[in-house]
Amino acid sequence: MPTELTFIGTAGCTPPAGNDTACFLLNGHVLIDCGWCAALSMLPTGHDPTQLTDVLITHCHHDHYMGLASVLFFRRMQRARLGDAAELRIFGPAEDIERVVELARAYLQVDRFSAVQTTPEVIAVTPGEALTIGEFEVQTAPTQHPVQGLAYRILDPQTGATIGISGDTAYLPALAEFFRGVDLLIMEGSTGLTDPPADSTSGHSSVVQSARIARDAKVGRLALVHIGGGAREELLAAASEVFADAFLPGPGEVVTLEGRA
Ligand SMILES: [Zn+2]
Ligand SMILES: [Zn+2]
Repeated sequence: MPTELTFIGTAGCTPPAGNDTACFLLNGHVLIDCGWCAALSMLPTGHDPTQLTDVLITHCHHDHYMGLASVLFFRRMQRARLGDAAELRIFGPAEDIERVVELARAYLQVDRFSAVQTTPEVIAVTPGEALTIGEFEVQTAPTQHPVQGLAYRILDPQTGATIGISGDTAYLPALAEFFRGVDLLIMEGSTGLTDPPADSTSGHSSVVQSARIARDAKVGRLALVHIGGGAREELLAAASEVFADAFLPGPGEVVTLEGRA
């Protein structure tokens, strides 16, 4: 079986109709980031939150965790289908993840409604830590963003396929080394065609800056996501000038990977 990456959402922080904030599903059971409506946005792809074993959060800005409470709620409402499945494991940046999961539980009022009682296992990750998550071997690295962030490099040993995910980050040349040679690199392009000013503290990249990382890392393909605005053709043309195998995925799009021997 090839490694399968499904784009659940591909948009920036306030998605247009028919899309969700950038979040992705690996082999149908590992969700990376949790957009506004991640639970419902999974459904058209043929998957749903009861299939999840693990959630990996890149960083705890709202657009990347806001859907967590509804993922937990969906699983509780459909708990008959979960059977003896273990509680969800939620990985995220050590500085914020415990607080965010606790707040999601508080929002569900688990102390008041036993039907939604849920105690996911929370794994606080320090950037640089290596992890085993399901069948995947995962490395992490720091990003440059106003809150602590994790870039993920994920290997599926069964296929040899490798996937890199930047989350939100300013242009950080060190990421080219971290993502070296991955089959699929998913990076943000929040500032579109315009590089942020050198003194910007927003912690975001343009599509061209992310294409530079892809080129320098010699990756297989580059998926550009979390883009605030701009015409797709222009964005793709600008990125492709730097790195030819760039694309702008849409929600529901699936990439299958066999690995590059
Ligand atoms: Zn974001
Ligand atoms: Zn962010």
